[in-house]
Amino acid sequence: MAAGSGRDHDFYQGKKQYIVELSIHSDEHYMREAYKQALLARDEGEIPVGAVVVADKRIIARAHNQTERLNDPTAHAEMLAVTAASHYFGTKYLNECALYVTLEPCGMCAGALYWAQLGKLVYAAADEKRGFTAINPKMIHPKTKVFRGPMQKEASALVSDFFRQLRDK
Ligand SMILES: [Zn+2]
Repeated sequence: MAAGSGRDHDFYQGKKQYIVELSIHSDEHYMREAYKQALLARDEGEIPVGAVVVADKRIIARAHNQTERLNDPTAHAEMLAVTAASHYFGTKYLNECALYVTLEPCGMCAGALYWAQLGKLVYAAADEKRGFTAINPKMIHPKTKVFRGPMQKEASALVSDFFRQLRDK
């Protein structure tokens, strides 16, 4: 049996370490941060949707839905996150950024992401009624890479539990 040399062993050990370090920058990690934002929204009586914007592996903006608090129908998590990220960079283009959001963006938000030329979109729960893919999947900028993210079940349950509780009141 040909065993690997010590050097090979070190190489793989090193590689393993590298992968562990990378994992804190995983889609799952960022979606979990977006989910925490959605919980903040829920606790404030808002429809529970949260978002984070990531650039160069760092979260540069966090936002949750605030349409009730701000009396503003445009205050969706994605809109607030895009505005914050644009201010952070001093540019309207977010082509180097990834946005993680717990619910599929609506048509309005997809439009904003189009104008921002977002680099990457990751969303968890689908929104079959109001989601942009139900309207027109091409609303997103052709250069934006779109992924269905982790935590789909959790994010979806958060929204449906919220509406169930509203109905039961
Ligand atoms: Zn929206």
